[in-house]
Amino acid sequence: MTGRNWPPRRRTPYHAPPTPATPNVSTLLISDLHLDPREPAVVAQFVDFLAGEARGADALYILGDLFEVWIGDDDPDPVSRGVIAALRGLTDAGVPCRVLHGNRDFLLGRRFCAETGATLIQDGEVVDLHGERVLLMHGDLLCTDDTSYQRLRRIVRNPVVQWVFRRLPLRQRRELADRMRAGSRMHTGSAAPEIMDVNAGAVAEAFRRAGVRTMVHGHTHRPAVHSLEVDGTAAHRIVLGDWHREGSVLEWSDGGPVLRSLPR
Ligand code: MN
Repeated sequence: MTGRNWPPRRRTPYHAPPTPATPNVSTLLISDLHLDPREPAVVAQFVDFLAGEARGADALYILGDLFEVWIGDDDPDPVSRGVIAALRGLTDAGVPCRVLHGNRDFLLGRRFCAETGATLIQDGEVVDLHGERVLLMHGDLLCTDDTSYQRLRRIVRNPVVQWVFRRLPLRQRRELADRMRAGSRMHTGSAAPEIMDVNAGAVAEAFRRAGVRTMVHGHTHRPAVHSLEVDGTAAHRIVLGDWHREGSVLEWSDGGPVLRSLPR
């Protein structure tokens, strides 16, 4: 968090009301946990986070790729069931949880919401975070230089394709997902790093369309706060980190946003 205008400072009115006795409650935003039964330490850290720090938040936003893969809400995988129970614990404690689809878990659906108490929000939704209008995205839509990925995205996000996929037996869905993941790994390994990052034009266009000055997204696994100018106006793009080696969280309070890592 550096820069002259960052974090945005709130002006205190002359007749400032007395500071409330309640502590400054903040909104937490995370993404790209890529929860996977083969990475139990990440799962454990997330479950601890839900039972600990997240309980004090006014809301938790998960901006995509909570799971490494999601083949349907009917998957009985014990790790997924444990995560669902942990999310339910949070929402039962009164903390709203809003989830956005990532490129790995875009099949999270109604049953997942019913079981966790979480709500799904649209990629590109604008929310009010402590007085600031903020555009929330997963981030993959901004990576327009990766044309082969965008082509694949259009196919797998097609409602007809999803309708068919959801009706396949679990084992077949798992096989297909494994094959797609192997393909994605090959592609990620071979593509140039700049192709895998956001496109500046797509970012500017997203700011323009939403009419906001701040956006938060994940997906690129390059945590940072970028200050830029869109049509002569200062704007900020906050990128959440992944949870591969440690956690990453954006904590947004009345004092503004703070991006920090969560040591494991
Ligand atoms: Mn992603």
